[in-house]
Parts: sequence; C-alpha cells; structure tokens
Amino acid sequence: MSFFSKKYSNLKPYTPGEQPQDKKYIKLNTNENPFGLSIKVRREIMKNAKKFQLYPDPEAKKLRRVISSLYAIPIECIMLSNGSDEVLNFLFQGFCDNGAVFADITYGFYPVYASLHKVEYRTIPLDSDFRIKKEDYFNAKSTIFIANPNAPTGLTLSLKDIRDVLDNNKDSLVVIDEAYVDFGAESAVRLIKEYDNLVVVQTFSKSRSLAGLRLGMVFASRDIISQLNTLRYSVNPYNVNYAALAAGYAIIRSNSHTLEQCQKIINIREWTVKELEKLGFYVTDSRANFIFARSDKIAGEELYLKLKDRGILIRHFNTPRIEDFNRISIGDSYNMKRFVEAVKDILREYK
Ligand SMILES: *Cc1c(COP(=O)(O)O)cnc(C)c1O
Repeated sequence: MSFFSKKYSNLKPYTPGEQPQDKKYIKLNTNENPFGLSIKVRREIMKNAKKFQLYPDPEAKKLRRVISSLYAIPIECIMLSNGSDEVLNFLFQGFCDNGAVFADITYGFYPVYASLHKVEYRTIPLDSDFRIKKEDYFNAKSTIFIANPNAPTGLTLSLKDIRDVLDNNKDSLVVIDEAYVDFGAESAVRLIKEYDNLVVVQTFSKSRSLAGLRLGMVFASRDIISQLNTLRYSVNPYNVNYAALAAGYAIIRSNSHTLEQCQKIINIREWTVKELEKLGFYVTDSRANFIFARSDKIAGEELYLKLKDRGILIRHFNTPRIEDFNRISIGDSYNMKRFVEAVKDILREYK
C-alpha cells in the first residue's frame, strides 16, 4: 500500500553531489567556495542570533536595498530565495505554460523541475565543442533556461550572444542562470532594464561562500518579480531565514572581499588547467569555479574512483557524451597541488 500521490510515482529527483561523513575528504565535487566567510561576516551572523526567535522580514528590505545599490537595479526588480534552486523551481512552476527548452548538457535540476511541474521540455544539443549555439535558441516559443557559464562545462556566452537570444525571443521568457558568473563571465543583470522577457538568477552559494545558509537572488521586471512573489507567498513568505539575511547583508557590504576571493580562485583554476594539460588532459575553457577535463589515458569513472580511494572527491556524471569527463571544483592551492600530485601518481600505472 502506497500513500504517495500517483502523479509523482515516476518522478526522478535530483542527485546532489556526495557529502560523505565517513572520513575527511578533499572535497572538489560540489563547487563550494574553499575560502569561506570572513570573520566580519561570521560576527554579523552571531550578532543577529539574539533575534532568531523572531520571524525574518518577508520582504527582506534591508538586504534587497544593498543589492539594489551594488547592482544599480531598482529594488522592485529584485527578489531573494532559499538558494537559487528555489527560484528556478518557481520559474518552472509558474512561467512555463508553453514548455521549456534548455541544453542537453546543463544543470541537472532543470529536467527535474520540469517533470515535477509537468512542463513539457525539449533539450538542444550543445555542439561538438560543448558550446551553446545561440541560433538554436532563436524563436524558441518556450521558456528558455541557459546557465551562463554552463555547468558542467564552464563555457560561456557573451553578453552580445545573450542580447541576440533575447532579441529573437520577444514573446518568450529567457532565464539566465548565473550561478558561476563571478568567476569570469559577463553578467546580464543590467539588461533587466532593457528587456522585459529576461530573468537573471544568481546565488550566494559559490562566489560568496554561503552554500550552507541557502541564499539566492533573482532580477527581472517589476511584473515578473511581483508574480514570483505571488508564488513565494503561497508557499513560504519566510523563505530566507534570519541568519542568511544577516550574512547576505554583510557579504554584499564587503563586496571587494568577494571579488578578491574570486580572483584567487580564477588564478588557481588557471594553474590547475595548465598542470592537467601538461599531463595530456583535454580541459574546456572554463570560466567557473570548476574545470571539466578528460584524459585519453584513463576513463572518467576510473579516475574518479581512484581519487576517491585516496580521499579526494571529484564529480563524475554517468551521462551520455560526457562519461569520459570529470568536473573538478577549484579548492585552495594546497588541495589543488595534492589533487594534481594524486592524478600524476595514478597516471603512472596507465602508460
Ligand atoms: C549550484 C547551482 C545552482 C543552485 O545553487 P543554490 O545553492 O541553490 O543557490 C543553480 N544553478 C546552477 C547552474 C548551479 O550550479
């Protein structure tokens, strides 16, 4: 006897990257920030603890105000979410009456949300270099979801390309998921003022070291933000908790610290790419806080398992077209050196 609704009996949920608790791993598998929060931000969270018995501000005015001035976007065009996943869920739930389109290789949550909300979707293959061809998205007649940089390839579209997609979809909504934008892509946030068919989603999880507190933000026209709020107030008006609001506020106010940390991660990424290329790997031109790499000497899954044996976790996807690859999150320099040493060591057996 099952009490579970039949409408969900075939739902395949998202598989998050492992968060193993059995031993200490070097975690290069879920794109978390290796550097963590500054002391200042941690203090701000602690200072707010005395107010945790109160509900947080459902409008999150204080945090939205500082985001508004940092991004030069009106406060009415900004909403906050419990991680950016929550707002992606709302977008599939409430803005896809004509279906959805996204790349065949992209963020694995898109097809899950589509199935959850019975949204018909079609996937568009990346080209043979794993790039998005913008023309494939012209006149889509459905809501478009593009991760920029894309995951797990790290490849980007230029702002000009995004403009072209927007100009050629006047009647369709275009959602740009900028989870990794701070690591070297061009943000489309400022286009919000020009295009009322654009939604830009960002997260505090990667560039802002806040994956554990769940904070995302979305930029769109006043109308779309108001419709998103209709959904949000129908589920959980207190979707962003007090600690996340306090941390977010302190993080936005110390944006130069975020930018410095991102630059460090970019430098370590470039170093790691060079090292892997010396070992004969093919590595995509990633502008994210991870790299995507394949070797002719060892299968993707095998390398993943051998590294796991040595206490280093990376991400392998058992997905057609990319089984040979692994996605490696950028950690601090010490851990990336240990990663490269371990790869060298493993490859010795595969001459
Ligand atoms: C990590 C990620 C997200 C979601 O991050 P949250 O932690 O829910 O904010 C969204 N899109 C992409 C492409 C991601 O990689």
